[in-house]
Amino acid sequence: MDRRNATGLNGQIHEALFNSHTGFLIDVTCNATRYTVVKPYTQFDPALLTKAPATCTGCRTILDAAPGAPRHPADIARECADILLTDADTRGYPPTLDDEGLRLAFTRLAPDTGHLRPLFEDLARGVYDPQNSYRTQPLYALTREHLADTLTERALQVPPNTPKVTVRYVRHTGGELQVPVGVGDRLTRNGLASGHWPTGTVTAVDTSGILVDFHDGYPPRHYHQHEVPRCFAFKRNRAPQPPAATPHS
Ligand SMILES: [Zn+2]
Repeated sequence: MDRRNATGLNGQIHEALFNSHTGFLIDVTCNATRYTVVKPYTQFDPALLTKAPATCTGCRTILDAAPGAPRHPADIARECADILLTDADTRGYPPTLDDEGLRLAFTRLAPDTGHLRPLFEDLARGVYDPQNSYRTQPLYALTREHLADTLTERALQVPPNTPKVTVRYVRHTGGELQVPVGVGDRLTRNGLASGHWPTGTVTAVDTSGILVDFHDGYPPRHYHQHEVPRCFAFKRNRAPQPPAATPHS
């Protein structure tokens, strides 16, 4: 997530929080929603970016860390994202990233979060969002962005000394990149022609290509290195691999 100052529609300068891969403006620090800087149904205008310091009092209070000021929303979201990720990892699945998935996770985790319990209960309750008909909160978008960042970092990691085979990875909040394939990754086969999009687990990577087990009763199938980008649509998010789990936790 990027933090840069931007001039709001009323002329005040806010600190704005951006998706680091697409440049999408997610929110402003003072919790006044992104619509203080972008008009509805339009894209963020890069000409509004400025190097000048923030003048909005809401943003200033948080940035100066004045006594009694609320914490920076990006920091709160980071803390929530870490809790969600740890919980998902313990269960052995990647975290869900859509609004309803986040709401259910906040609901389930709220009783066990100690001093964060009031915040989690707030997040679990959500507010009605007419844009997507699910309950959501401004903090959902920031939490989701932190989760997407962490999952992207994770998608870029493969066990050491793995021969280089790359495949497409699509970030949940937008932006795509080529990532390496490692043993244990789950890849979804491109089914544009067949309408069938099976997901398989990579069981081996060597200089000739990769072996993918589709869990369909047949032995793992071999794909040459040059076939991988064509045959596979994308790499899926994953929970950490057991040996790689310790150094990054
Ligand atoms: Zn502001």
